[in-house]
Amino acid sequence: MYDEQAARPHTTGDFLHELLLDPARHNAQDLAVVEPTSGGVTLTTYADLRATVDAYTRQLASMTLEPGTRVLLEAEAGAQSIAVLLACSRSGLTFVPISPETPQERLHTLIDVARPALHLQPADGTRTGLPAGLGTARFDAGALAVEREPASALSRRRTPTVTDPAYIVFTSGTTGRPKGVVMSHRAVTAFYRGMLDHRIAAPGDRIASTSPLHFDFSLLNIGLALASGATVVPVVQRLVRWPRRFLRALADSGATHVNGVPSIWRQVLRHEPARLEALDALRSVLFCGEEFPLPELRRLRELRPGLRIVNCYGATESMACSFEDVPDPLPADLQRLSIGRAHAGAELLLVDALGQVVDGPGVPGEMYLRSPALFTGYWDDPDATRAALVPDPLCPQSGQTVLRTGDLAVRGERGEYYFLGRTDSQVQINGNRVELGEVERRLLQYPGVTAATALPLPLPDGGFQLAAFVVLAPDTRTATTDDTAPPPAAPAPAPAPAPAPAPAPAPAPAPAPAPAEELSGALREFCALALPPYLVPVEIRLLDVLPTTPNGKVDRVALAASH
Ligand code: ADP
Repeated sequence: MYDEQAARPHTTGDFLHELLLDPARHNAQDLAVVEPTSGGVTLTTYADLRATVDAYTRQLASMTLEPGTRVLLEAEAGAQSIAVLLACSRSGLTFVPISPETPQERLHTLIDVARPALHLQPADGTRTGLPAGLGTARFDAGALAVEREPASALSRRRTPTVTDPAYIVFTSGTTGRPKGVVMSHRAVTAFYRGMLDHRIAAPGDRIASTSPLHFDFSLLNIGLALASGATVVPVVQRLVRWPRRFLRALADSGATHVNGVPSIWRQVLRHEPARLEALDALRSVLFCGEEFPLPELRRLRELRPGLRIVNCYGATESMACSFEDVPDPLPADLQRLSIGRAHAGAELLLVDALGQVVDGPGVPGEMYLRSPALFTGYWDDPDATRAALVPDPLCPQSGQTVLRTGDLAVRGERGEYYFLGRTDSQVQINGNRVELGEVERRLLQYPGVTAATALPLPLPDGGFQLAAFVVLAPDTRTATTDDTAPPPAAPAPAPAPAPAPAPAPAPAPAPAPAPAEELSGALREFCALALPPYLVPVEIRLLDVLPTTPNGKVDRVALAASH
């Protein structure tokens, strides 16, 4: 029998569902979710959402799973999957969002690693072949239908606490074993509270979330919308990948905010500038995950003057960490965007290669983050956890740990930070220390270059040479793609244990047409004017698009494999 009182965790305000469903933050009849569909939109009020969460919670409670039990949530972002994750939170269960495109073998690896008790998918989900010991259920608008009861565990825990994992996001680990970032309720709600301080959204706003549910950027958007009493507009990948469909979804849903990785704008800026200009409701764009190439950012500013653009920096290990408004207008001589400072309640500091804390502007160092929003650890990986969560360098005696981000930055005159690249994007080529970001920035200064990625590519006889992949604006050379085509589909996540290349070939960058050789020669000369010879790419390839990973970042592995 469902016992609401027993199932409800102790109330602290710091559980995920408490913050996102806090009745003080919204009106029950306001829209919580607007889902663009091919035929229009589906509307869900906060009252509807709460009713669905209640129904799912009742069914989860009947399964007698102990707090902290993992539940795989294999779904796209939508009103029902949002209700599922909130119901997991209310039931003290840890949700593990995974993509419905996950290859079978990878899913089995994930199941071995995460040891979930239950797999949830929507009523029309297509996953089959799940291991016999795993409980399975499907959800629809009103209920959660159990197909196979999960094995009930010997319950040693009865009370969910805010230090319990709210969710685990699995990213691809360097060893080929999926790396699970464990986030507690307390950490994620601390992050949301710090983010809210930046006043990005308010009731009445409609926030388009363009990231798939299994990337925490999607959870950031859901939290931003619901904790602000606003509306989340989950835009599924099959719409995001096609610029015209994407813009129609934004128009149909009346999106006022669009949040996503910078690459969601690349095809829109190239092929649909008029439709972008015509999006009447759009007021704010938030990007995260990588630098927005400055030429594309300038184009966005040009097409949408007055748009609020927020640079959100951070990593899954703290969901994100800073929010900084991009200047309007963009100064003509701007070289690098500021990432600002850590959000309210958190602090960044810089540490040099000798482990000394760096003070003052202009001195580069690795960013360390001190924050209540830090992840708990990597799932079942104490070594990796120890390498990322290290003693506070300013007071190691305290036992407090801080996050070693692996990102290089430098501080400006006002204490703001400038992202310089990954510590590991610093590579040695022929004994020279090469900062790939420096090469990329130079290439981006060439007229007409809209995106650039530099990479060390292996030579047949050993060693590496510096190569670069460059995208030019359509009018700079003859376009080779159909203007209506979407960017190449993101490759399937790499199956374990080989991190890449996946069996489905990475999107093959289109070969450049006739003037390519001339242009790459000109680009090399342009680099040689400002960079030492070892920083001038030996080879520069012109592409119509840069391939992207499933979360929309430049896919460096696919670029290297295409060589
Ligand atoms: P996210 O989901 O936030 O992209 P990941 O864990 O996948 O998080 O990647 C985090 C890394 O992405 C950061 O350590 C940093 O190198 C890069 N990154 C994230 N946001 C930005 C940004 N706004 N500007 C530059 N690099 C960024």
